[in-house]
Amino acid sequence: MSWRDDLPPVEGKLLFDEPLAPFTWFRVGGRADALFLPADMEDLSSFLGALDPEVPLTVLGVGSNVIVRDGGIEGVVIRLAGKAFAEIEIDKEENQVIADAGALDTAVARAAAAGGLAGLEFYAGIPGTIGGALTMNAGCYGAETKDVLVSAWGFDRTGELRSFQAAEMGFSYRRNSLPEGEVIWMQALFQGRPDDPQAVKARMAEITARRETTQPIREKTGGSTFKNPEGTSAWKLVDEAGWRGRLFGGAKFSELHANFMINTGEATAADLEGLGEAVRADVKAKAGVDLHWEIKRIGRPK
Ligand SMILES: Cc1cc2nc3c(=O)[nH]c(=O)nc-3n(C[C@H](O)[C@H](O)[C@H](O)COP(=O)(O)OP(=O)(O)OC[C@H]3O[C@@H](n4cnc5c(N)ncnc54)[C@H](O)[C@@H]3O)c2cc1C
Repeated sequence: MSWRDDLPPVEGKLLFDEPLAPFTWFRVGGRADALFLPADMEDLSSFLGALDPEVPLTVLGVGSNVIVRDGGIEGVVIRLAGKAFAEIEIDKEENQVIADAGALDTAVARAAAAGGLAGLEFYAGIPGTIGGALTMNAGCYGAETKDVLVSAWGFDRTGELRSFQAAEMGFSYRRNSLPEGEVIWMQALFQGRPDDPQAVKARMAEITARRETTQPIREKTGGSTFKNPEGTSAWKLVDEAGWRGRLFGGAKFSELHANFMINTGEATAADLEGLGEAVRADVKAKAGVDLHWEIKRIGRPK
């Protein structure tokens, strides 16, 4: 009997051989052996508690920082979809925001602004979920998740609750130091500062406007492809090596922002990953710099 025939019963949806491309910004990649859309947090924890520990598990937010490879993802992919994972509350007394891991960063920024809380404006510029932000220490324009996070909690692989103070999460540039897959984030608590809602909204509008003119936000992309190396910008190295706009299969680095990779329409995950690796090798040869992927590449090659 295969592990597929022995998965725990669920309240939500359990779909087999489900295409994952529609769930990612790049719109590439193969199928999930199984895709679990839990009905709520209890459904998820009981599923995890009963799941065979040998079955591989992967969590997806809204796929704005991943390339799913063309051979798909082995085991169970979990996606926190729907209202049960997207609640946002404002605590006026403590000037805090409590957000579910499936809530969009932009929705959290808007809720904080409407509640007269400053500090979370930067989330207006990041098209992911809070779960992705906790994993990637997402940030922009000088602010990042670790600056506003008080604590976060989630389930471990066995369905046990785990909670962390921000200081315990070992944040650094676009990562935390917890072992990969250690926690499936459920909620985060953020600290804001009281401010005039109109002033906060104005700052958010500035961030959104700046994005529109400097990033290909309407394309099939995954945000910054490489982390910025110490003392320089990844886009400059990509540009100087001659890769801005140069096609590699159906993939290229954006003319607008040379650290953003784009699926021009027919790209495969192999085109995108192959382009990234070709650029890494070329930049190493020409500038002597090692570029490190910021985008996560997950799953099996075809
Ligand atoms: C146009 C564009 C602009 C961008 N600009 C920025 C920017 O300015 N700054 C920035 O930091 N990023 C930026 N990004 C990248 C991306 O939006 C962020 O990294 C975001 O935090 C990813 O969130 P996600 O929900 O899409 O996560 P996904 O891409 O789905 O996943 C990313 C990682 O998070 C993990 N993950 C997601 N949810 C959970 C969860 N609940 N529990 C455990 N693990 C989880 C996944 O397993 C994976 O390892 C940009 C992306 C795009 C497409």
